[in-house]
Amino acid sequence: YHTLRVILGDQLNAAHHWFRKPEPGVLHLIAELHPEATYVKHHIQKLCAFFLAMENFASALQDAGHHVQYLTLDDTKGQTLESLVLGMADAYQVRRIQLQRPDEYRVMMEYQNIASKASVSVSLTDTEHFMLPFEEIPRHFKAKTTIRMEHFYRKMRQRFNILMEEDHSPVGGNWNYDNANRQALKPKDLAHIPEPLLFGHDVSHILQRIERHDIPYIGTPKATLVWPVSRHDSLTLLQYFCDHLLPNFGRFQDAMTDQTPHGWSLYHSRLSFALNSKMLHPSHVIKAAVLSYRYRKDIDIAQVEGFVRQILGWREYVRGMYWINMPDYHEQNALNAERDLPEYFWTGDTKMNCLAKAIGQSLEFGYAHHIQRLMVTGNFCMLTGIHPDQVDEWYLGIYVDAIEWVELPNTRSMSQFADGGWVASKPYAASGSYIQKMSDYCSSCHYDVKEKVGEQACPLNSLYWRFMIQHRNRMLKNPRIGMIYGNWDKQDKAQQDAALARAEWCLENIEAL
Ligand code: FAD
Ligand code: SF4
Repeated sequence: YHTLRVILGDQLNAAHHWFRKPEPGVLHLIAELHPEATYVKHHIQKLCAFFLAMENFASALQDAGHHVQYLTLDDTKGQTLESLVLGMADAYQVRRIQLQRPDEYRVMMEYQNIASKASVSVSLTDTEHFMLPFEEIPRHFKAKTTIRMEHFYRKMRQRFNILMEEDHSPVGGNWNYDNANRQALKPKDLAHIPEPLLFGHDVSHILQRIERHDIPYIGTPKATLVWPVSRHDSLTLLQYFCDHLLPNFGRFQDAMTDQTPHGWSLYHSRLSFALNSKMLHPSHVIKAAVLSYRYRKDIDIAQVEGFVRQILGWREYVRGMYWINMPDYHEQNALNAERDLPEYFWTGDTKMNCLAKAIGQSLEFGYAHHIQRLMVTGNFCMLTGIHPDQVDEWYLGIYVDAIEWVELPNTRSMSQFADGGWVASKPYAASGSYIQKMSDYCSSCHYDVKEKVGEQACPLNSLYWRFMIQHRNRMLKNPRIGMIYGNWDKQDKAQQDAALARAEWCLENIEAL
């Protein structure tokens, strides 16, 4: 071979120009690596999903006539990415190493080391996945600076001509249908929630490998995997989403329920793993959704715009924020949060029903939908002041779709406000009344969502006020928040003291909540 190409586990893009036609002198390397499996404790389904998707990708390339070397954990014991790539280049006496740009800063540093140590030429090419070219990130984003998603999203809509009229106005007349998209589920809605499309892939051989190499993991191993692990699976899941879930996607995007077995997935696409591993291209997903909207009468603009916004807007935006702010992102802790993550984040064993449900399904499936991540677990961590490093570690490990470029801005910025406001204009802080409005969790909770003080009082209520008082000066910089303090200031001192005392008790006894 004259050329060694490296394909990372999240670079499974079959449409990449590398794969247009087989080249006899080119060897493609796909490898399961110990450091990648252990840089954080991953969910067992995440490990299985990546390894099986990588295996399938290698087989598909081989079937198409490409030369591929697939190495398992057995083959790469004791190796790092650097030692493996340099060792392979040496062993095959290649003249050049070709790499695709990694999405994680950590891997980018490793690639720079490889480039500096290699005795042959090393080149970096694009992954051809994102819609915003990497080189353009500095044009849209500025380090340590507030950049609003909405502004970026509108530019992307115009640039790619998505849901735009000929006169350059947004389809439907509005850029944003958030107000139509904040409905809770009513009991009559529950019976109509479609069953999620789950795959049943046999992963027993991967589980054995993971056990054999003592790779630590989150969750309980299961011999079958429900996640998509090939391009075919990913397209099937996308079609299922457009046919059955998109008609209600936006409407119930923020809703939560534990009253149906499908409550863990609702109308969400669960396409994040297929997208983040690059088995699916974002523009393909957007086109499929927009086409369904054009040809079907039961999908209105609020549903499809809500979906497009997540992918064309949020997903591209957090990638820009990640790269422009790395490596400093890791240091951000604007609210000086220092507490340890409670043990129940690893077991789901808490009397707070909202947390038990969001954590429980994360442990079971490696998945929670956005509002559970943001407003249940994320909100709790922010109100109780958990150190953002520990919050990041939990999110980065537990979700099948968690890769640092997308996890970090969502967790540290959006959910914890640890950036002091680069992403969100104010902290997404909420008391129990938000959970009660958007879910049915409170009706079967040990705690009383209406109470602020007393043993039965929902812990979030007093914790919310403690948080708001603690950060009052910072909050008042935001004009939209000032009126919230009116409610607090109206209460007499005894009421205020009782609420703050309950919050202190909750913090001191956080493991017992
Ligand atoms: P849907 O609800 O069906 O949305 C469609 C797609 O839009 C998703 O697949 C995803 O690609 C994209 N999307 C939606 N919201 C966001 C967002 N805020 N940022 C980026 N893309 C978005 N997403 C990840 O892919 N990986 C993560 O590690 C991750 N960590 C998160 C941590 C926190 C604290 C929060 C609040 C959100 C996080 N998200 C993450 C964003 C979002 O929650 C997930 O993308 C979504 O829940 C995945 O489920 P889905 O595919 O069913 O999404
Ligand atoms: Fe969560 Fe409070 Fe509702 Fe219980 S009462 S489910 S802790 S919001």
